[in-house]
Amino acid sequence: MFEKILIANRGEIACRIIKTARKLGVKTVAVYSDADANAQHVKLADEAYRVGTAAAKDSYLKADSIINVAKKSGAQAIHPGYGFLSENTHFANACADHEIAFIGPPASAIDAMGSKSAAKEIMQKAKVPLVPGYHGDNQDPDYLSTQAFAIGYPVLIKATAGGGGKGMRIVEKKEDFISALDSCKREALSSFGNDEVLIEKYLTKPRHVEIQVFADSHGNAVHLFERDCSVQRRHQKVIEEAPAPGMTEELREKMGEVAIQAAKAIGYQGAGTVEFLLDEDGSFFFMEMNTRLQVEHPVTEMITGQDLVEWQLRVAYGETLPANQKDLSIHGHAFEARIYAEDPDNDFLPATGALHHLRTPEENAHVRIDTGIIECDEVSVHYDPMIAKLIVWDTDRYKALARLRGALKGYQVVGLKTNLNFLYQLASNEGFIEADLDTHFIQRYENSLF
Ligand code: ADP
Repeated sequence: MFEKILIANRGEIACRIIKTARKLGVKTVAVYSDADANAQHVKLADEAYRVGTAAAKDSYLKADSIINVAKKSGAQAIHPGYGFLSENTHFANACADHEIAFIGPPASAIDAMGSKSAAKEIMQKAKVPLVPGYHGDNQDPDYLSTQAFAIGYPVLIKATAGGGGKGMRIVEKKEDFISALDSCKREALSSFGNDEVLIEKYLTKPRHVEIQVFADSHGNAVHLFERDCSVQRRHQKVIEEAPAPGMTEELREKMGEVAIQAAKAIGYQGAGTVEFLLDEDGSFFFMEMNTRLQVEHPVTEMITGQDLVEWQLRVAYGETLPANQKDLSIHGHAFEARIYAEDPDNDFLPATGALHHLRTPEENAHVRIDTGIIECDEVSVHYDPMIAKLIVWDTDRYKALARLRGALKGYQVVGLKTNLNFLYQLASNEGFIEADLDTHFIQRYENSLF
């Protein structure tokens, strides 16, 4: 195993990675910005180095500085976490150039999935089912409008470089296409520096079901079942769960196989997630593959009993996968609620400030809290306003949901606005209890949630 690794990230995910490294006897090196000099990840790591000022572009995104710290500290590998440099091909290559292991997939696999349209092209060749649509090079507005008409309204215009729910426009009818295209392209250019788009049939009642996959450098690949991430606000996940309610063994096996096929098509190694839209009739379509550890990976850990960060470290070190497909099974049910500093009364705008008072539920076999924040810490404007991920587990969905309500009740934050009450309303909602899930869940139950 590696003797020392550097974690090129902050917050809860940096703390989460340090936890597993410690368990494996691996020394850890943290990097931090001026805003994070007293952060938990800095305190938990064996060594910590400043890499720049508060803005991410001047610290957590400074690939050269981070690699220099790795060399100086003698770290043999870098774990990028999620976000920041985790899906940056240049960074993965730069690690290789300096003989530092990148704890993630090969740069070529990141690259293959970097553009939503190129990814769809590869998946089409690998016979992975796609949402009907157009993902070609011709970006002429009239041509795209013709394509949209042929696909059939409603359609979704998506920035090929998009992410985080940004750069998408639903278009209901032909007359609205050109103006939606213009505004989508403008947002795409300013957010991602690339205004290329693709067009998809807009599914009106799909579920977001994603498959966790893992592959090693010896040609082995497995899936660790699914997560249902249908509860979304503005295309962003709010509560995730595993397994997906109502999933049949047959469909699970089919989606798992297709996800492995997708991973193999790009020579994948490490942890990856293949995202699908699942339609009411049980048909499913590839949306994209995320070539990193996902925010919501803990629900998979809770139902499988596996430590996915440990798997990542072992695979990056060159070991074979810790388990075969037949060794993996699902036990019970898990939920993850994303606790954010945001203002539900003001369109969920990010909130900033200090957590003057923080009370958290007791952690035990049923309740897990992944966080990088303690009482009196500050949520700043510089980064994602996540306070914590609250993860619960029990033997079935109904009991796990009761655990979630109990744990949310026990979570108290004073000093800044949070979405805690909104999450509690969700967990108490009849429709949610009955698993009436699709990506419009929050909209549908809006009146009873606010
Ligand atoms: P991002 O990379 O920004 O997360 P995705 O392509 O993963 O974007 O899509 C995010 C969400 O948008 C999905 O979870 C789903 O709710 C919705 N979505 C994406 N494609 C479609 C589609 N073709 N029809 C209906 N909803 C879609």
